[in-house]
Amino acid sequence: MSTSEEPTRLPLVLAEPKGRRKPPPHLADLDPDERKARLVELGLPGFRAKQLSTHYFSRLVDDPAEMTDLPAAQREELVSALLPDLMTPLRTLEADRGATRKTLWRLFDGALVESVLMRYPGRVTMCVSSQAGCGMACPFCATGQGGLQRNMSTAEIVEQVVAGARALARDEVPGGTGRVSNVVFMGMGEPLANYKAVIGAVRRLTDPAPAGLGMSARGITVSTVGLVPRIRQLADEGIPVTLALSLHAPDDELRNELVPINTRFSVAETVEAAWHYAEKTKRRVSIEYAMMRGINDQAWRADLLGDVLTSYGDWGWVHVNLIPLNPTPGSKWTASDPADEREFVRRLEAKGVPTTVRDTRGREIDGACGQLAAAPDGSVAE
Ligand code: SAH
Repeated sequence: MSTSEEPTRLPLVLAEPKGRRKPPPHLADLDPDERKARLVELGLPGFRAKQLSTHYFSRLVDDPAEMTDLPAAQREELVSALLPDLMTPLRTLEADRGATRKTLWRLFDGALVESVLMRYPGRVTMCVSSQAGCGMACPFCATGQGGLQRNMSTAEIVEQVVAGARALARDEVPGGTGRVSNVVFMGMGEPLANYKAVIGAVRRLTDPAPAGLGMSARGITVSTVGLVPRIRQLADEGIPVTLALSLHAPDDELRNELVPINTRFSVAETVEAAWHYAEKTKRRVSIEYAMMRGINDQAWRADLLGDVLTSYGDWGWVHVNLIPLNPTPGSKWTASDPADEREFVRRLEAKGVPTTVRDTRGREIDGACGQLAAAPDGSVAE
């Protein structure tokens, strides 16, 4: 794997760069009591917090002119206290006749992130970013190659989902009005490296309206490269979100290359933490495995992966989700041969591991797994 064509290896970055300004506080950063307290602190009536929350989470209103239950003279002050503008959409690209929509956002400090809405029959999934950039340095992922700019705030994460919910409520997505049923933390960033803000976002998404969006925790998936202590912490939160572990190799030698955090936490430690998560939450863990031709798709690696996963017993704690590798700039790797992919599935299933191949959406708009890089091209309209 160390040829001269190899891209320069990036360092692992676990903490965000110092000195970044914080986004303005927003009601989605706060629980209902804190919202009230913030208004009172500013000399405004605390009971208005609930009305603002209803506009934001239940009615999905963003135009202050529609908030007619707030006194006109105070409206602006109330809105700027709890509903400041956090992000500006710069561009939306569509694929699958509008059923897949990727939005590029500019945050208050100029940082860029992307989110993707995917509509399927009977469900809508929002794929959200949790950091501007990513410090995990996985060489096959476009986001990882750009490094970490900063962590996103809870409200910046929630706002991506609310924006999708608004588009659906306003009939802007083909297929009629609808709701967001699923949220996956599979956009830019490593969610467990921004733990506090991500947990806050999960709470806001699941809190009943108008405290939050009132979604089911079962519809939420947190995907991680495998920050072992954080997986254990997540298991103790008591929120039954689905955990997805980006494994990509069953052996340390290869995983050290593909997922550099493996140099800190071995395959054995990482899989053990995922198993413990399943045991504690009774939620089936998803193992993500991007199929790279000639790199990690050999039959013997399928057997080894099956053995690693079934060493904890086959009580249905896990399933494998194979992701056909999506192209990224400068990457020398390509997707596996379909015949090799079929053999990989066959071998895993022979060991009793349920396996699916992900139907990747949005590849033509660089909106698929690992392609989010948030590079504005010259055509951005502002
Ligand atoms: N940092 C978290 C969240 C990102 S999720 C994580 O790694 O889990 C994005 C998923 O897409 C991860 O499983 C990631 O490994 C995978 N991925 C990254 N680059 C990819 C690519 N080029 N093709 C297919 N999947 C990719």
